[in-house]
Amino acid sequence: MKWSKSLIQTLREDPGDAEIDSHKLMVRAGLMKKVAGGLYTYLPLGMRVLNKVRRIVQEEMDRAGALEIVMPILQPAELWKTSGRWDSMGPGMFRLKDRAAHDYALSPTAEEMVTDVVNGVVSSYRQLPVTVYQIQWKFRDEIRPRFGLMRSKEFLMKDAYSFDTSLEAADKSYMAMFEAYKKVFGRCGLKAYPVEADTGDIGGKFSHEFHVLADSGEDGIAFCDGCGYAANLEKAERRAESRADAPCGAPEVVPTPGAKTIDEVSKFMGVPGSAFVKSLVYVADGKPVMVCVAGDRDVNEVKLRHFLGAKKVELALNDVVLAATGANAGSVGPVSPADSSLRIVCDAGLLGAKGVIVGANKDDHHIKNVDLSRDCRIAAEDYADLVVVRDGDICAKCGRPMRIRRGIEVGHVFKLGTKYTDSFKATFKNSDLKDQVMVMGCYGIGVSRTMQAVIEQSHDANGIIWPASVAPYQVVVENLDPANADVTKVADDIEAGLESAGVDVIVDDRPERPGVKFKDADLIGFPVRVVVGAKGLAGGVVEVKRRRDDKSGTVMVEPGKAVETAVSMLA
Ligand code: ATP
Ligand code: MG
Repeated sequence: MKWSKSLIQTLREDPGDAEIDSHKLMVRAGLMKKVAGGLYTYLPLGMRVLNKVRRIVQEEMDRAGALEIVMPILQPAELWKTSGRWDSMGPGMFRLKDRAAHDYALSPTAEEMVTDVVNGVVSSYRQLPVTVYQIQWKFRDEIRPRFGLMRSKEFLMKDAYSFDTSLEAADKSYMAMFEAYKKVFGRCGLKAYPVEADTGDIGGKFSHEFHVLADSGEDGIAFCDGCGYAANLEKAERRAESRADAPCGAPEVVPTPGAKTIDEVSKFMGVPGSAFVKSLVYVADGKPVMVCVAGDRDVNEVKLRHFLGAKKVELALNDVVLAATGANAGSVGPVSPADSSLRIVCDAGLLGAKGVIVGANKDDHHIKNVDLSRDCRIAAEDYADLVVVRDGDICAKCGRPMRIRRGIEVGHVFKLGTKYTDSFKATFKNSDLKDQVMVMGCYGIGVSRTMQAVIEQSHDANGIIWPASVAPYQVVVENLDPANADVTKVADDIEAGLESAGVDVIVDDRPERPGVKFKDADLIGFPVRVVVGAKGLAGGVVEVKRRRDDKSGTVMVEPGKAVETAVSMLA
């Protein structure tokens, strides 16, 4: 390929709406062009990368035994009504009508449709297990599309779905995808970590997200270097150490006029937030419950919901708070709430807390010198790990301190159970010819997000540094004197040699200054650069250098050795 024919457009300026490096570089290197918020055109260079990532995903899915299909993006509403998600998906799902006024969704995912498809094809246990996948465009009306391809309205997803005869068999299908994912991300040159994620109602250990660590990541992940435990903050557990507070005197009510938040009260009283107990009233499946955590910690609502065994927990509206405690939010606490039957659950880190300050269940008042076990009615079994894990918290598995890192979710594997197969009555005949419901798993990879995640993880001040496996071209041959027939012949011979060695190569044949060409090559990030110029050739050499090395990594070789040298640098 010749640069002059390749429709490459590089930009010197960062796009105004780009907040993170990979987004800036995607645009500046001419991989994509913005159409509107969350919508992009993949330009030829970007398309080459997307196709390479896609190919790797396909190869690893095929190798894992998954079968490729493709389903319509336009999905009839009936499918979504069968599962109940027509209502529960909310405004995140794009909806439209055809001319006959039938409702459709633009696929944000495809559990419903695939369950319907497989149900129509599978009738016997002999056809199971089966895993099907597609690589298809998905649509989500994200609240805040941003970061380029990281969170766009339209994106390419690989979605796979496994169907099994039993829960145990489904675990095997899950593990096959789990292993395939490690290979996919490894081959894309990405360091992606599987981290435990919340399983919703399914329970068990079968939900992992694959995260690429980056400061710009939208997810928090707790990592334990000691034992390798890694979990999304939504789910991460910690071992709470009980406190050894000194005994305190009798509780004392103090006025705290106008101070509502822990910050305000702590400023007002001149004591740190950790001296307080933060008390919040939630409604769990219709029933109020008070949740107490240390003043400087946050409630993890996912853990709370699991602990209460509730389908739904949400912060209570003020009239509920008032009826349950006798005060408005900001002045409530675990000492004698108005409703004496109100259940109080407490973070385990508060076990043994004495001398703490709590809301007095009387507006604009707090109580100091509170000993939770002496002054409150909290059942021993209502102490549990209920807070969001933070840096330095103790790993529940091995007892060592954890660190919090930021991650970009590039993939997700999830054991679904029979959630969809139940609603679609997706059954098979078992060996006794009895109908049995299939057990499902679902497995997503954000193909377009992965492409950008590679850049987020691999770039420097000058531009992208592509791994050879997904680079738009693996080698750039810089023809520094395109008007010189001898130089051009050498450059073109090297191009031909690389092509016959199976290498993707582009020849920069533009009549530009070397500085401009090198800048562009560094910005786009071709893994290897071969420089052919009249000066070098006069001395019988061309230069070969890796993008990731600095000048000192440049090697001079005779033109006949350029192909071999470039290929060795790609390895
Ligand atoms: P997130 O938590 O980032 O919103 P999700 O959990 O909703 O993602 P899944 O439904 O698990 O996403 O989708 C599978 C994969 O699709 C994700 O792991 C991610 O890589 C990708 N993905 C999801 N939403 C987007 C988006 N708006 N833009 C680009 N890729 C996305
Ligand atoms: Mg997910």
